[in-house]
Order: sequence, then C-alpha cells, then structure tokens
Amino acid sequence: MQLEIPKQLENYIGGEFVKPSNNSYLDNINPAIGEVYGQIPNSNSDDVENAVTAAKKAFPEWSATSTETRFRILNRIADLIDENHDALALAETNDNGKPLWLSKEVDIPRASSNFRFFATAIMNFSSESHAMENNAFNITLRQPVGVVGCISPWNLPLYLFTWKIAPALAAGNCVIAKPSEVTPVTAYLLAKISREAGLPEGVLNILHGDGPNCGEAIVKHPSIKAISFTGSTRAGAQIASIAAPMFKKLSLELGGKNPSIIFADCDWKKMLFNTIRSSFGNQGQICLCSSRILIESSVYEKFKADFIPWAQKLNNGDPLLATSKQGAIVSKAHFEKVLGCIELAKQEGGKILCGGNSVKVSGRCENGYFIQPTIIEGLGPNCRTNQEEIFGPVVTLQPFDTIEEALQLANATDYGLACTIWTQDISKANHVAAKIESGIVWINCWLHRDLRTPFGGIKNSGVGREGGWDALKFFTEAKNVCTQY
Ligand code: NAD
Repeated sequence: MQLEIPKQLENYIGGEFVKPSNNSYLDNINPAIGEVYGQIPNSNSDDVENAVTAAKKAFPEWSATSTETRFRILNRIADLIDENHDALALAETNDNGKPLWLSKEVDIPRASSNFRFFATAIMNFSSESHAMENNAFNITLRQPVGVVGCISPWNLPLYLFTWKIAPALAAGNCVIAKPSEVTPVTAYLLAKISREAGLPEGVLNILHGDGPNCGEAIVKHPSIKAISFTGSTRAGAQIASIAAPMFKKLSLELGGKNPSIIFADCDWKKMLFNTIRSSFGNQGQICLCSSRILIESSVYEKFKADFIPWAQKLNNGDPLLATSKQGAIVSKAHFEKVLGCIELAKQEGGKILCGGNSVKVSGRCENGYFIQPTIIEGLGPNCRTNQEEIFGPVVTLQPFDTIEEALQLANATDYGLACTIWTQDISKANHVAAKIESGIVWINCWLHRDLRTPFGGIKNSGVGREGGWDALKFFTEAKNVCTQY
C-alpha cells in the first residue's frame, strides 16, 4: 500500500475519511523548520457524536468476534506498520522534530510490537475461577467495556497511541482515539493501515483536534465508558474532574520528575552511557527521562568531568541527518517553556554547567526550535526547577552522602513515575527500590521494557497501570458468576 499524506488531514469515522463537521482546521507545524506544512481537523463534540454513533453500531459484532479473528487483524496491522516503516518514521520525524534514526529505531518498531503483543495477549487472556465451600464455584467473566476513549500526547506519537488502541481493540472494544494535535500524521496513517488490514468500519475511529474542544468532548460523552489518557498532570486532573462523577473507568499516565541515583560503586561506563540516554534521549521529552541526577558525593566531581563533555558532544542538527544526535523541541510553545525553565533555574541560583541556550541550525532548519543539552547544579530539592516537570533536554545535579539522603532527595517531589538506581551492590539497590516512591524502578538499566510488566506512576504521575494483563483488565469489565450445584 502507498501511504500518502494530504495537506489537509481528515477524521476517520465509521470506516470513512471525513472532514470536520465545522469545516475548521488547525495548522500543523514541522518544528525542525518552524513552518506550517499541513492542516488538521479542529474537531468538536459533533464529530465525537458521529464517531460514537459509528462505534456503537460496530460494537455488537466486534465484541462477538472470535479472539482468533482479532488476533489475525491486529497482527495484520502490525505487519503493515512494518511494511511502511520508513514512511511512518519520516512522518513522525517531520511532525515531532525527533531524529529520523530514533523514529526508525524506536518509535515505529514499538508501534508494531504493541499490536503484535496484544494480539497474542488476548489469545492467552483467561477468566479466573474460584471454587468455594458448599458446592459452589465462581467464574469471573471479562467482558469488553463498550466504546472507549484513548487520548495520547506528542512525545512518542504512534508508540503511545498504539499502546492504548491495541489492547482496547484486542479486548473487543470500539475505540474513539485522539492523537495530540501537535503530532497527528502517523495517527492519520494508522487509520489507513487499519482499513487496509480489514478492521471493520466503526471499530476504530480517529479524531483530530485540540484538548479543550475535541479531547474534552470525548471525556464528557456519556456513551464512552472508559478513558485511557497519557499526557500532562494538569490535563489529567481536568479529565478526572469530568470523568469521575460520571463513574467512568480511568487510566491516567501523567508527568514525572524522575530521579537517577548514582552510587560510587556502579559500573561507571554503563552508567554514563545510559545517563546520557536517560537525560537527553528524544531531547529529554520522554516521561521516563531522568531529570534529577543524584550523585554520591565522593564521585560528584568525577561524574561532572565525564558527563559534561559527553553532553556537549550531543550536537543539535537537522533531524533527517544521521549525524544529528539531538533533534528539535516539539513546538514553539514548548521551546519557549523549556527556555523559560532554564531562566528560572538561573534566577533560583542554579549554575549552568553546559548548554542553557537555544541553537541556530544552519540551512533548512535555521528557523527550527533547537535547545542545547543543559546541565545545572547548585539547586536544592525544593526549588521549582527541582519540583516542576520541564520535559526538555535539561537535568540538574545534586550530591548526596548517605542512602537515606539519596532517598529523601529522590522522594522530594509530588511525582512518582520512574527511577533509575546505579550500584553494583544489589542489596543496596533493592533496599532503595523498595523505599522509593515510584511506579517503575530500573536497577543498572534504563527504559529496558518488557511489555508484560505494569507500567504507570504513583502520586501526581497518575492512576492505574498499562501493559500486559493490566491493560486487558482495564479495557474489560469483570463480572463474577457464582454457581451452586
Ligand atoms: P497534554 O496533557 O497537553 O496533552 C495530551 C493529550 O491530551 C493531547 O492529545 C491533548 O490534545 C489532550 N488534552 C489536553 N487537554 C485535554 C483536556 N482538558 N481534555 C481532554 N484531552 C485533553 O500533554 P502533552 O504536552 O501532549 O504531553 C506531554 C506530557 O505527557 C508530559 O507531562 C509528559 O510527562 C506526559 N507523558 C506521560 C507519559 C506516561 O506514561 N506517564 C508518557 C508520555 C508523556
């Protein structure tokens, strides 16, 4: 199949590509060149209504299809993602500004893995039974929820979009999905792929638009029974305030302020390589990135001596070039926000050890939104720089003397998404892992993902878990049937 991208994207409702009901569009900007290069529907509650009608119509048949049929179609979607790997990677990079090599190596392969994983998972998903006294037993049926909403952010566009859609479809739901308005194109292409793969019309509906008009209309719609959301803590709180009184199922994957705890006895080379990745990968725009690096005092200066020159070598460049280690920041608004955070860090007394500025990339990208990898020291745990999510290529360094102090610093924010611990002392590592306030802990690795494991955060980083059985449980309702014989 040929994946063509029109200048003006359309919504995908009931198996058809349609214009937004109000005929209103939003600009889509390539952040590496700072120019509008397309338009997307500015959808509203009327479009959501149309999508819900299509999804409700499709639900009885889709929810009754055999798991084997769903397995086959989801695998076919995965195959088509792989077959169109290069076109999808290019679309992702043009929308998001991330280096093309990263889209090729990470984003697109993971999107097909998501479909393949949940295609297989649904074949193995089984109901529980509990035998009990007095000649009785329970069977817990797991039935699809119905019409569900999936709303995703811009940082890993197709990767996170499919991470929600695949389990929802596998479990037999019909989906109303909205990608970020900042990175809509691969979601549009996924609609083409789903149609080609034979997903029946109305089972997956993809709407484009912003949060307040389109996203909130999805959250508010009474026929949409579950909302799976990944994005900012601010939007998550707003969504919860609407959905909770409607008793919708809610999965909220929100922001982070993740610590990386580096002990003197770690495997230094491995730690350095991965701390560079966890600090600046995808320009620091991964919810799992370490933004607060905590270093045992005895190796604090050594860490600076090794880490800073490496960060300085991460050149910002045209995302289409294989030599560019860092791409563009996703949008002008986010670029300005990140630069504002660096200014705030200076005002708070932080010392910029490297970076701290925007970068002008010559040629095609001279108007793009690029920021140097930035390292800051001299700030305590309670300042805004160490409390608020920046979500860019900016990290702070803080020294610690004891395990208790490391834990205190690590736990000193309202967030609790991910944490990385570097030490060769596995007892110490597990002691810290048990005490850390975080949904995900990596010991001597980072972003080493097994799709079967529970994924999500605590505190202001969210509610619920994605991945493996957790995702299939979220997208199904448990119904317990007790029989006495
Ligand atoms: P965002 O909250 O601005 O937007 C996310 C999505 O929600 C977009 O599709 C947006 O249009 C929509 N939206 C915004 N307001 C809405 C509302 N009131 N109702 C319904 N939908 C609404 O987030 P973003 O800027 O796109 O993404 C960055 C954020 O996402 C960061 O905070 C990052 O930490 C977080 N994130 C979290 C995870 C995780 O797994 N925990 C993963 C990736 C990103």
